Amino acid sequence: MGRLKQRLDTLAKKSDYQLTTLVCPECSEEFTAYGDVALEFLVHQWVLGPEGEVGAAAATWRETPEDVLRLFDHEHDPGAFVEKSSGLPFLSKAAGGFDLREVPDVGD
Ligand SMILES: [Zn+2]
Repeated sequence: MGRLKQRLDTLAKKSDYQLTTLVCPECSEEFTAYGDVALEFLVHQWVLGPEGEVGAAAATWRETPEDVLRLFDHEHDPGAFVEKSSGLPFLSKAAGGFDLREVPDVGD
């Protein structure tokens, strides 16, 4: 089993894709997304931002993955989503201590 796990780890590193499960603190709905979700989220938020020309420039950088776009379709604020594995706001990783909300009890 150790070898298999090692191979999977190597694969994950190679593809730079890891599965993240996010939980909406409002309704407990779960979302899964691959890749650096926090980074993609921030970039997409930037694209949607009030500065139209900045958004257009950012949009050409790369396409936002559908997994991340789905977060924005949710009826509640995706910025408050919590990473299920750590129980911490998923944006705290990228934002480095900016606006750390009180961590809700997500349960299991
Ligand atoms: Zn919700």
